[in-house]
Amino acid sequence: MEKGDRRCSICGGVMVEGFILDFYKENQTATRWVEGKPEKTFIGAVAFSDRQNYHITAFRCDQCGYLEFFAIEPQVLKDRE
Ligand SMILES: [Zn+2]
Repeated sequence: MEKGDRRCSICGGVMVEGFILDFYKENQTATRWVEGKPEKTFIGAVAFSDRQNYHITAFRCDQCGYLEFFAIEPQVLKDRE
């Protein structure tokens, strides 16, 4: 989406597209939405092997800072990638 396509539902400001930065195995990556409830492995990590997951697109209002999230790009992410 282009800047200016979306307007803030709180104040009417312009919603700017971005993403939430996260770390996965010490590398910077975009945060994802994963289907189902989190399950812990024996070492305490979250297991998500072969579950449907999506990159999260975040829109931020350039006036009030309101955030909206969308999960529209499906990915397959395995525990051992
Ligand atoms: Zn706003």
